Amino acid sequence: MTDRIYLSPPHMSGEELVQVQQAFADNWISPAGPHLAAFEQKFCAYTGAAHAVALGSGTAGIHLAFLTTGVQAGDEILVSTLTFAGSVNPILYVGARPVFIDSEPESWNMDSVLLADVLQKRAKVGRLPKAVIIVHLYGQSADMDPIMDTCAHYGVTVIEDAAEALGTYYHERHSGTIGKIGIFSFNGNKIITTSGGGMLVSDDKSLVDHARKLSSQAREPAAHYEHNEIGYNYRMSNVLAAIGCGQMGVIEERIRRKREIYDYYQAHLGDLPGLTFAREMPYGRHTRWLTVMLVDPVMFGADREQIRLMLEANNIESRPLWKPMHLQPVFREYEVVGGSVSEALFDQGLCLPSGTALTDDQLERIVSLIRGMH
Ligand SMILES: *Cc1c(COP(=O)(O)O)cnc(C)c1O
Repeated sequence: MTDRIYLSPPHMSGEELVQVQQAFADNWISPAGPHLAAFEQKFCAYTGAAHAVALGSGTAGIHLAFLTTGVQAGDEILVSTLTFAGSVNPILYVGARPVFIDSEPESWNMDSVLLADVLQKRAKVGRLPKAVIIVHLYGQSADMDPIMDTCAHYGVTVIEDAAEALGTYYHERHSGTIGKIGIFSFNGNKIITTSGGGMLVSDDKSLVDHARKLSSQAREPAAHYEHNEIGYNYRMSNVLAAIGCGQMGVIEERIRRKREIYDYYQAHLGDLPGLTFAREMPYGRHTRWLTVMLVDPVMFGADREQIRLMLEANNIESRPLWKPMHLQPVFREYEVVGGSVSEALFDQGLCLPSGTALTDDQLERIVSLIRGMH
């Protein structure tokens, strides 16, 4: 049996260990330390975000986004239904209610027409949601201009879940820096990783300062421990920030390789009937964090699950698209607007191995195995 091929494993450059050794040498193991500030600075310089705070996870970032924008129990939050549960769980942490919005078929991200329609209906009955979470899936940006216009019109806060979209552009701007708040993730399979971690960014300094305070148990500035509000233990550790400092140096190299891997799959599988690949929207750069293929089972002669099982039998990991949140038993009681687009994407979509350390030989093997099924 050959070595297992994973979906998108961590890919260290070597510089991470140098940075971690520095943190050890200076005994900046915990809690804060100079690598944290350096990681935040590098992140702002790369994305163009004005202010950033490094956190233990992207999910913690979404939770803090709610806490710093005054989301209350009973509020409604609109969110893409085609996403990972990490986008949605924090809505429940604060006692708010998710309303799931379907994707549009081109970018797979939130349908701005459905969004405008929901907001118009809610405005009529005087029950506007508190915020909208826009998810940028698999490295492709949502179409932000119509979304920002609609949300500005109704005074609804835009939170961008850019967990999968570091390095993604919407026109000339980085996705995640357009709404009121953006969050990113450095979980193990994301485009860069700190083993686990997240970042919250905003142009609003006082908001980011507040998030930073809440992330370290909401200590007031006093020598003793003084607290005026409820805090959380959500700050990233300095050692993990050192890994992040190393990873920031190779982000563009990683995106280049991700895009090459996509091009390879597309060139070597795109000719087969029934296999299609998500196009890059004309409004921005798709990082191709994961290459996703849609499988029409009648035309191809096998469905996405048969392909997945065949790859698994060859020790190769692939994965269906995110199962829409409105189909998840835990969220069954909540409203969904539309749903058929995300359901069809889930039925047909398969994420192919997209790790940046994949060799050309491995890619060739994956492609010939899939071609063999036709
Ligand atoms: C990974 C991910 C998250 C959560 O990030 P963590 O750092 O794992 O908490 C949230 N939303 C989406 C869309 C993700 O892919």
